[in-house]
Amino acid sequence: MNSTDPIVIVGAGLAGATAARTLRAEGYAGPLLLLGDEPAQPYWRPPLSKGLMAGHAEPEHIAVAPPSSWADSDIDLRTGITVRELDPAARTLTLDEGSRVRYDQLLLATGGRARRLAGLEGARTLRTLPEALALRAELAAKPALLVIGAGLIGLEMAATARSLGCEVIVVEAAGVPLGRVAPPWLGGHFAALHRRNGVHLELGVQLTGLVETANGVVATAADGRTWSADIAVAALGMVPETGLAERAGLIVDRGIVVDTHCRTTAPGVFAAGDVTSQLHPLSGGRYRIEHYANAMEQAVAAARNMLGHNTSYAPVPSAASEQYGTRLELCGWPEAADIYGDRGWSVRGEPESLDFSALFWKDDRLVAAACVGRGAEFEQLHRIIRDHPYTDVDRLTDPDVDLASIVA
Ligand SMILES: Cc1cc2nc3c(=O)[nH]c(=O)nc-3n(C[C@H](O)[C@H](O)[C@H](O)COP(=O)(O)OP(=O)(O)OC[C@H]3O[C@@H](n4cnc5c(N)ncnc54)[C@H](O)[C@@H]3O)c2cc1C
Repeated sequence: MNSTDPIVIVGAGLAGATAARTLRAEGYAGPLLLLGDEPAQPYWRPPLSKGLMAGHAEPEHIAVAPPSSWADSDIDLRTGITVRELDPAARTLTLDEGSRVRYDQLLLATGGRARRLAGLEGARTLRTLPEALALRAELAAKPALLVIGAGLIGLEMAATARSLGCEVIVVEAAGVPLGRVAPPWLGGHFAALHRRNGVHLELGVQLTGLVETANGVVATAADGRTWSADIAVAALGMVPETGLAERAGLIVDRGIVVDTHCRTTAPGVFAAGDVTSQLHPLSGGRYRIEHYANAMEQAVAAARNMLGHNTSYAPVPSAASEQYGTRLELCGWPEAADIYGDRGWSVRGEPESLDFSALFWKDDRLVAAACVGRGAEFEQLHRIIRDHPYTDVDRLTDPDVDLASIVA
């Protein structure tokens, strides 16, 4: 690359930070600008609902890199700056104070924001470090906490709040928790886990309103039932931050559309992380992967491709969660499997004692796995889905078969 214009990265989250570091690690010595609208330097979000919320970790423990490393690597990190407009034809960005920045190549790593629902605006959300610190400060008084949504983050918040001695109510619209990532029977085990730990879990409840009162909050359901608590927090997933790309005319379909080389539909503009819409390898449709491993790995691929490499990115997605010391790990594409009836899944181990791996099938192909308390097996199943997905179901579910032998 001969241009004197910088490579610019918009969004200083995990994907943006990883891309910047990768560009330097891969030998790019030109100007490099990393722009983020949050006041903090890049940090890890996963601890926000776990260690940081529980008080076991402080902001400095969750930094993506030591504060001095950005300048040491000659990465021009500018925080507290919002990029307002992108002009792909002129290769310029407009920043919030009106100044323009030219770029040679651009990476959009704008992630997402917490989803809010009409009527529930009074609930706190948890996406950013300031929100997490504010919630942590409130939890110190052991309030009764209402968690709206029983996905991974809602359940993690519930478990953390219980560990702090709070009374916790979780209200979920679906009939089981974790409905977006796991089949009902697996969600049922996590419902039981939370109830055993003292969570008041209400399933199949559509909340329509939340009002603040002198004593806290009162949530109302569509059927008229109400729940009171001191504070409420909504865990309703995230909305991808696609506005900049949309206004610039890039194709957006549930996220910024990228190809397998992380290229958007505008020349010289790449994207990575939660904000991207990737091709689903099994359905042929598009989907977003909202997990940190994707944010990092896609950012590495994007950075390499910006430097002219030919790095194809086609991940087997994976994610993990920890609740009451029970570790749940997921990989693959459970939504592609026939897992919502009696067919399409098989088990190694003991679901009742939360020590098992669930294997999800589409016809003869292993397409996803969920492991509880089986870290080594999880790594092997992740590799089997990637490299040996047509392994015989009897072999994979035979407890006497060491999965390492298949991977080897
Ligand atoms: C509470 C919580 C717990 C989680 N736990 C897990 C977990 O256990 N396991 C897991 O795999 N994943 C977890 N995740 C998800 C994981 O954190 C995300 O997948 C990851 O942070 C995505 O990184 P990203 O860089 O793509 O996006 P983000 O982290 O959203 O970063 C994007 C950044 O871009 C900034 N930005 C947006 N627009 C602009 C603009 N116009 N100008 C300047 N800056 C802009 C945003 O403010 C943000 O700082 C969790 C997320 C949360 C919120």
